[in-house]
Amino acid sequence: MTDEIRGAGGEKPDAVGEVDLMNWACTVCGYSIEGELPEKCPDCGAAKEDFESVPIPGM
Ligand SMILES: [Zn+2]
Repeated sequence: MTDEIRGAGGEKPDAVGEVDLMNWACTVCGYSIEGELPEKCPDCGAAKEDFESVPIPGM
């Protein structure tokens, strides 16, 4: 039988408040960095304002 009911209590929601580790992607050239937001893009030199936080896959 594969009729199991999931989430019958005891399931905790995803931690949305944790922003310790993020991936940052340059919206100008697409360069992505894991961890801290750099001062500027090492690839194209775009300012950090041009970076966008993206969720780390597989977390
Ligand atoms: Zn860039």
